[in-house]
Amino acid sequence: MNPRINHRLILFPHPFQGHMNSTLQLGRILYARGFSITIVHTNFNAPDPTSHPHFAFRSIADGIDQSEASTSDIRGLLALLNVRCAVPFEECLQEMVSSQGGDAAPIACLISDSMFSFTCGVAERLKVRALVLRTGGAAFLYVATIFPVLKEKGYVPVLGSRSEEAVKEFPPLLVKDIPAVDPQKPEVMFRILDNLIEVIKNSFGVIINTFEELEHTDLASLREVLSVPFFPIGPSHKCCVTSSSSSLLVEDRSCISWLDEQPPKSVIYVSFGSLAAMSEAEILEIALGLADSKQPFLWVVRPESVRDPEWPQKSPSCFLEALEGRGKMVKWAPQKEVLAHPAVGAFWTHSGWNSTLESISEGVPMLCMPCFADQGVNARYVSDVWRIGVHLNGGLERENIARAIKRLLVEREGEEIRERALVLKEEASVCVGQGGSSYRALDALVSHILSFK
Ligand code: UDP
Repeated sequence: MNPRINHRLILFPHPFQGHMNSTLQLGRILYARGFSITIVHTNFNAPDPTSHPHFAFRSIADGIDQSEASTSDIRGLLALLNVRCAVPFEECLQEMVSSQGGDAAPIACLISDSMFSFTCGVAERLKVRALVLRTGGAAFLYVATIFPVLKEKGYVPVLGSRSEEAVKEFPPLLVKDIPAVDPQKPEVMFRILDNLIEVIKNSFGVIINTFEELEHTDLASLREVLSVPFFPIGPSHKCCVTSSSSSLLVEDRSCISWLDEQPPKSVIYVSFGSLAAMSEAEILEIALGLADSKQPFLWVVRPESVRDPEWPQKSPSCFLEALEGRGKMVKWAPQKEVLAHPAVGAFWTHSGWNSTLESISEGVPMLCMPCFADQGVNARYVSDVWRIGVHLNGGLERENIARAIKRLLVEREGEEIRERALVLKEEASVCVGQGGSSYRALDALVSHILSFK
């Protein structure tokens, strides 16, 4: 732990789980470098202050009620948060700026999530420097910068289309990897990406949860196109000296003792993150595929991710039999610990960026089933660039699922994928150690912040 320095950082996380995790991890990293940390957060999905006793917390009244908080329309909720948070956030920051001078360390800068479109403007008005935290990968961010070109060339798919057409200007992406627009309101998607790029251009720098060795080419392109400093300090969960949980749901730790009973590298861990939802038919097909795979499985099923509250009692007998010992279901898992467990041999994921990076950090091969947003791009990099996973080809059907799981856990192809994954795991570990690329990026970030005064 570095000596305390007389500088306060204001961190403003986006209230979705993956974003919250990254922001609180960044807070812990910068606290360990001597900064004081204040987390300004929405009431919606508020973090638990008792898990972070060294931070100060200030909540803002976002006015989001239960009916509006549904994650079934994520783009709508993103837009609403940007509308509702702007004024209370400005008032909160204004108050903190005006009350400087007492015992609290002076504000060095604001670090806000890149999905908030108003924060750099607020910071400029209040004469506070603003950095942006990008919780996704560099490849997707680069795709966001070229979105107008993709749109012009007709590459942007509409919801539901699964076009295998190649994006010639950006191999190995396929059209289906690009975020899809709702044909009824295509402007919503375009606005989100435009705002993202604008916020970054208006910032004093971007802290990004990735590492040079993983995304060197896309980071270089971003630096050239956006002309702001980039600080790739990830995988941020591997840089934290302490490991307090930032889960918004209660972790069911019984899965760790269950994993202790399973043979090494035998278990398929299944989780589709904190936002993706499935129909009953899809959930049933997953259950049947897992039963058919004959491999042990640990499956996270969040209560909101399936519409039928009586599931899995209504599931077919072969699945319930599999649950008798070969399978385990939980509502929420301590995911990082699960991925680091020696029994876990593969991760069936929706390819959210945090999940992808957490899997890379433990050398766990991935079965990718991207759902929305950046996930298609992340999954394509996993399967075709880093070659540390496969896509679930042929659709969400029990035979395809069982075949894909065996490919990763039983067949020779799976071993080759694991060997490559272990090389990346080593690189991820080296980069956060003293002198590694992420460690140096963090040094550069600290110097950059200290140069603001
Ligand atoms: N996560 C977890 N327990 C679970 C499922 C997910 O702790 O049972 C965490 C996971 O470790 C990751 C985050 O939730 O940090 C999900 O973020 P990601 O970017 O992968 O997906 P999103 O939820 O944003 O779609």
